[in-house]
Amino acid sequence: AACGGGKKPAPAAPATPVAATPAEPPAAPPPADKPAPPPAAPKHATATMVGTAKFKTVKGTVEFKQTDDGVEVTANIEGLKKGDHGFHIHEKGDCSAPDATSAGGHFNPSKHKHGAPDAAEHHEGDLGNLTAGADSKATKTFTMKGITLDEGETSIIGKGFIIHDKADDMKTQPTGNAGARVACGVI
Ligand code: ZN
Repeated sequence: AACGGGKKPAPAAPATPVAATPAEPPAAPPPADKPAPPPAAPKHATATMVGTAKFKTVKGTVEFKQTDDGVEVTANIEGLKKGDHGFHIHEKGDCSAPDATSAGGHFNPSKHKHGAPDAAEHHEGDLGNLTAGADSKATKTFTMKGITLDEGETSIIGKGFIIHDKADDMKTQPTGNAGARVACGVI
């Protein structure tokens, strides 16, 4: 068995003078107070609906709540004639015209055709119909996909909300042939 030879003399440790320890760098300053985060995007919104000049009896509220699937819309309207009424988000939050035409057309950032809310193609603002009973009241709660209360192109904050005199037929372009605007609100 090979055996090591005689013990070699340990090499002299190189003379490495210990450098003077440099002064500790100043501790990193404590992180500056972070600027206050921007106010959280609203997770709720409301449109107070007011009857237009020829439909003064119509009034109520439409509430909006952000959910993981879209926006939960809850409408509580009174003063409507019995039957179906098209209701839509419109592109401008401007109810100043007596007939509310100032609210523009249907909210449609994706440039789709008008349709039912569950159709393959529809405006983001196409919510379908609201049905009033014999008591002239209409309530409906449902979740609309493709819109948000957060910032972005599909945000509905500041948009107009319109209830129409007639039913939305879900096919006439680009309006659904829902007739006059009976109530307007700003989201
Ligand atoms: Zn539409």
